[in-house]
This record gives sequence, structure tokens and C-alpha cells, in this order.
Amino acid sequence: MSDEPFQIRNFIDGQFIEPVGGKYLDNIEPATGKPYSQVPDSDARDVELAVSAAEKAFGDWSRTPAADRSRILLRIADLIERDLEKFARAESIDTGKPLSLARSLDIPRAASNFRFFATAILHTENEAHVTDGIAFNYTLRQPRGIAGLISPWNLPLYLLSWKIAPAIACGNTAIAKPSELTPMTAYLLCEVCREAGLPNGVLNIVHGTGPNVGAAVTAHPKIGTISFTGGTVTGRKVAETCAPMFKKVSLELGGKNPNIVFADADQDAAIAGSLRSSFANQGQVCLCGSRVFVERPAYKDFVERFVEKASQLRLGDPLEATTDQGAIVSKTQLDKVKFYVDLAQQEGGTIALGGAAPKPPNERCQSGYFFPPTVITDLPVSCRVNREEIFGPVITITPFDDEEEVIGYANDTDYGLASSVWTQNLNRAHRVAEKIHTGTVWVNCWLVRDLRVPFGGMKQSGVGREGGEEALRFFTEPKNVCIAT
Ligand code: NAD
Repeated sequence: MSDEPFQIRNFIDGQFIEPVGGKYLDNIEPATGKPYSQVPDSDARDVELAVSAAEKAFGDWSRTPAADRSRILLRIADLIERDLEKFARAESIDTGKPLSLARSLDIPRAASNFRFFATAILHTENEAHVTDGIAFNYTLRQPRGIAGLISPWNLPLYLLSWKIAPAIACGNTAIAKPSELTPMTAYLLCEVCREAGLPNGVLNIVHGTGPNVGAAVTAHPKIGTISFTGGTVTGRKVAETCAPMFKKVSLELGGKNPNIVFADADQDAAIAGSLRSSFANQGQVCLCGSRVFVERPAYKDFVERFVEKASQLRLGDPLEATTDQGAIVSKTQLDKVKFYVDLAQQEGGTIALGGAAPKPPNERCQSGYFFPPTVITDLPVSCRVNREEIFGPVITITPFDDEEEVIGYANDTDYGLASSVWTQNLNRAHRVAEKIHTGTVWVNCWLVRDLRVPFGGMKQSGVGREGGEEALRFFTEPKNVCIAT
């Protein structure tokens, strides 16, 4: 057997092929800090090949009956589930997240994404409007052509399939670019798509960096639809490239999500829920509640109990069954987390838990990128640590005195992705939900997802919505046909 690291290939026109330039990047396992495979360092030439394949496939695929497209997508979902263990392991090694999380959340949800859109396209309706005896209008929703789909590293297969499934279900062809940090599950998905009988060229995956591949995808004149998930700074670049070409664009960007706990809340539930929303996937979920606000009468008790529970989370080798907290995705991300913990101290914060790199969990993970759950108190609401996205296992807890005050705190950010509110007072829950500027408000829960609901952010957390009907509309062009009567 060769000692060479496994080389991932691009998937273009149904074939696994080398990047045109023949270059590769090391794919580092975050838990060990060592390369474990190589990912194509593709460029605009590879994107060009993918565009040719997607263009060629579009005619037949867009005319394929919905029932047939649906059957193929259902088969893809079945095969992901059949290979769940293989996918989950690849996801855990790629990202550093606990294998148990990949197995229970990411991979099952990726399968659900395919199943959801496979069946959604069987139940769509076309509107008709009768114009006062003058005309009869009906709306034809047609696939738009080639869709460019760009995704981040934190939930690699889940977020990529959340774009691929609706794009191809609607009859588009797609060019997907996974994060160069976490390419492995996208590679496995290609194998599954082939086995499921997805025609060549319907889905093409081009691996590589943002500046080389992502930028080529967004700039390509034949890719008229761009669905992007990632950071706000990158999203701005994508928007700038797409605007002069009037592309249809959806941007799902960063967040600095408030998590509000009123004194009347069920405190046990609020603490358990906040623990998940703070530290799931090492805090690397765009929806994590990184700013916790607790009403003053409950504040002291909440902090004590929350810190106690957080200190019990077991940081360890992601592949071990007992691990609650795995590794941070990269050295760069780990450095960013450390930078913000230092900054919090300069800004007057108190480290109530964590704050320093832990002992490596085992021999294998000696050089891995680990950081413990970290809780910071006593920071002003308007400081940088409370305004900028950290995207790691670091949260702040701040007391508040009344409803209006905390709504002001919650909205005092450039972001508007998601929020949580914990209260037993139903009227208050509705009142607060209405006034918070976020695309999702969870009341007495977190990360409960129904794939039919609109998903997305306000303000600098993005434009457009994904999910259910919104996605079907995004990936189709509504044409009005007006017939005189
Ligand atoms: P990122 O913006 O660095 O990268 C995202 C993707 O864009 C990657 O595939 C990257 O290669 C690509 N890219 C980079 N530069 C590009 C360019 N110039 N043109 C086109 N593509 C380019 O983000 P990340 O670090 O991978 O992910 C973390 C960010 O994603 C966080 O800000 C997080 O909040 C956000 N996120 C948002 C959501 C959401 O639904 N709103 C979900 C998950 C993650």
C-alpha cells in the first residue's frame, strides 16, 4: 500500500479528474494538526470545464420529469444513510467535530435535505390570475440554468447539500465549491451521486481556494445564480462581483446572536439550551448564541450553574465516543479565538471559565487545535468582543434589568441571523420576538429546524432566504404567460 496521502479529485461531467494545473493543497486534520489527504488547488480553468459540463447537461436535465428527478434525489438520500458511518467519520476527521455529532446531526440532515427537496418538487403549484375578463395569466417556474454553490467549513455536507438538493431538484445544473478546509464529504457525495444515477454534468464539484475557485465561479458570466454561505467579508466580495452582472444571489453570512434569558424562564431548560447554543460544534455554528443576556434577578445563579455545567463538557479526541468538545477547524481559526480572548481581557472582561489552551487530550492529538469552552463576564455590551463574530467556544454573559433594555442590546450589532428567548411569559415571548431584528427567533429552544420555514439573516447576516418554498423560488425563474380571453 502506498504511503502517499489520499488525493481528492474534482468531479466534472461525472468523472473524477485531476485539476488542470496539477496542484494540490494539504488537507489538515484539526485534531492532529497533520495532513491526512490532499485537495485539488483548482483554478478558473477547472471552473471552465465544469461550466461546459453543466451547460451540456442542462438541456436534458431541465426537461427530465420531476418524478424522475425526485427518484434520483431520493436514491442519493438513501445512499448517504447507507454510508452514514463513512460520511460521519470523514466529516469528523475533516472538521474536528465529535464523531457523535457528525453521526447524529450533520449527516442525517444532509440526507433529509435531499429527501425534502426530492418530494417538495412533486407538490408545487403554479399560480393563475384572471384579469377581469380581459386576460388569463399563469406563472411558469423554470429552472434558471447553472447554479454556483459556495459553502463554508463548519457544517460542510449539511450546508452544501442544502444548496445542491434544491438547485438540481428544480432542474438546474450545479457547480459546487466546498470549503478547501473540509472537502472530504463533498467528495464522498460525488461517489453517491454517480451510484444513484445522477446524469453526468448535473452536479460538478470543483475544489480549491476562495480566491482561485470561488471567485471564478462568482465571476463566470454563464453562472447566473449564486448561492453563498460564509463570512460577511467574503459575502461582500461575492455581492460586488455579481452585482454588475445582475446575477440572482443569496448570501447567508455571519452572526453575533443574542440569547436572552428572563428571570421567569424555566432555568434548567434555559441553562441546558444555552449550553448547546454556546458550545455545539465548539461554538462554530453560525446560529450559536454567543452573547448571553440574563435578567438581573437570575444572573448570579445562572452564571454559577452555567459555568459548572460547561466545565463538565469533555474535551477530547473527536473520534472518541465520550467527547463533547472536539477540535477547532484550523490553526488560523484557533488563533482568532485566542485573539478575542486576549482582547476580552483588555476590554475589562473577567474569564469565568476556560480562556487558555488545554492539555492535548491524547498522544494522537498532541499537535491538534483545541480550545476549551470559555465564558466571559463583566464586558460592556458595545465592546468589540460583544460586536464581532468570534466563531469559536467563547461566549459572554451580561445582566440586564428590563425588556426594552435587552431588546436594545440584542439589536445593537451589525448582524441579524438568529436569537433565542427564554421565558414562561407567552405575551412577552411574542412581544420580544417581534422586536428583535434576526431572521430566526427561537423561544424556549435552539436549533429546532423545520425545512419548510424560511431561513436566513437580516442586516449584515445576509440577503435572501433558503429553505422550503423560498429555495424553490430562488432556483427557478417565474415567467408570466398572459393570454387574452
Ligand atoms: P469564508 O467566507 O472564509 O468562506 C466561505 C466559502 O467562500 C469557502 O468555500 C471559501 O473558499 C469561499 N471563498 C473565500 N473567498 C472567496 C471569494 N473571494 N469569492 C468566492 N468565494 C470565496 O467563511 P468560512 O470561514 O469558511 O466560514 C465561516 C463563516 O461562515 C462564519 O462567518 C459563519 O457565520 C458563516 N456561516 C454562515 C451561515 C449562515 O447560514 N448564515 C452558516 C454557516 C456559516
